[in-house]
Amino acid sequence: MKRPIRVFKFGGASLKNADAVRNVTEILKRYADEQLLIVVSAMGKTTNALEVVAASHAAQDGKAFDVLNEIKQQHYEIIGELFGDQAQETIVSVNDAFVEVEWVLEEEPYENYDYMYDQIVSVGEIVSSKIVSAYLAHAGLPTQWLDARDIILTDNIYREGWVQWEETQHRALQTAKPMLEKGGFVLTQGFIGSTSENFTTTLGREGSDYTAAIFSFCLDAEDMTIWKDVPGVLTADPRVFENVTKLDRLSYREAIEMTYYGAKVIHPKTIKPLQNKSIPLLVKSFINPDGAGTYISDEVEDNYPPMVAIEGDQALLNISTRDFSFVAEQHIRELFNIIAELRIQVNMMQNSAISFSLSVNDIDDKVDQFAERVQEQYKVTIDRGLELITIRHFKKDILDSLRRGKIILLEERIKNTTLQMVVKDVPVMRRKPGALPD
Ligand code: ADP
Ligand code: ASP
Ligand code: MG
Repeated sequence: MKRPIRVFKFGGASLKNADAVRNVTEILKRYADEQLLIVVSAMGKTTNALEVVAASHAAQDGKAFDVLNEIKQQHYEIIGELFGDQAQETIVSVNDAFVEVEWVLEEEPYENYDYMYDQIVSVGEIVSSKIVSAYLAHAGLPTQWLDARDIILTDNIYREGWVQWEETQHRALQTAKPMLEKGGFVLTQGFIGSTSENFTTTLGREGSDYTAAIFSFCLDAEDMTIWKDVPGVLTADPRVFENVTKLDRLSYREAIEMTYYGAKVIHPKTIKPLQNKSIPLLVKSFINPDGAGTYISDEVEDNYPPMVAIEGDQALLNISTRDFSFVAEQHIRELFNIIAELRIQVNMMQNSAISFSLSVNDIDDKVDQFAERVQEQYKVTIDRGLELITIRHFKKDILDSLRRGKIILLEERIKNTTLQMVVKDVPVMRRKPGALPD
């Protein structure tokens, strides 16, 4: 009988230095007999640094090569530590990838920033995957390197490519499956795809989880595991909250609701492909691989503890008609056509007779573009720098504690399960020590 295909994803934190790569290798040794497709992200914070390279090149501020050289150096150091005197082959192949970025930097910045961004930023995943696959082979785990761009076909919206599912599935079955059947691991990149003209695209920041789900769907995986620096999905982000607890099991529905509204532990697009084929998702710790992690599946469990997700960078738009006409279907259609065109994520909305409020993710200059497009017909006010707090299965004491010190600009309850609020901090006035009025 054929062994089932399993998909693993390792993110930047699990590959941040040579020790981290060794740790991942130790984890993978436990799965040496499995048919395993491994998806890796760029190492550590490489993508952030590559974003600086792209922005510097666009601004022509003379810093792009310096930042790129720093990134190259970090990678060569990791290769040196991992391979010792057998580093040459990997250095050459990683250097080939960086040279392609240097070619972009030697030219004038392209007019299409998003296109240029993808050509530069994608190198993080390419070099990471080359290093990890070479190291696995070096450590006695035969591994084939697969270029995800040969499988994942997207449209040509750069920085947010949309997957063309039929062709992607066809290619996965034609190319990736036979590689897996040959035996050994197959290792590929998260986050990247390509257009029908073979230009590299990216799927949106943090998109490697999504890549793993695309492969899982296309290959009918038995299950998918994402390896994180936390024990599993927790009731809130442990960087922001104390007293968080791990959820042992979660339904797809809970997972999608929480991640859509900012629980950063899983990319929100990850759940749908898995749910569509009932493929369970495990979130496990690369620090404690023996831990059970969180198991996300179809199973419905209605006894969840309160869970909190916080999405920063919210803009609250208040849109009202200039002539006091009602904000009715025709207006809403017009406004939403523009929102869809600009691919703005709307998190909350409320309308009254002549006005409409929207809380949206304030990314790039999309909100300004929106305001510009509608201002002739509507009066638009924008409040920026806000937070969206989403609480599922809320309890009064949790609500009270989250509201403390905040001004609530918009709030909504959805049945008894969800409460959302858009908030900003109450401005604090502090007395100068010892100062008294005359
Ligand atoms: P990756 O290395 O795969 O990119 P991320 O850093 O993107 O991983 O995601 C893991 C981080 O997500 C954790 O370190 C944690 O701070 C954060 N996080 C946010 N919300 C949650 C949550 N509800 N449960 C667990 N982790 C969370
Ligand atoms: N490296 C990409 C990013 O940092 C994709 C990912 O890590 O999931 O956004
Ligand atoms: Mg990440």
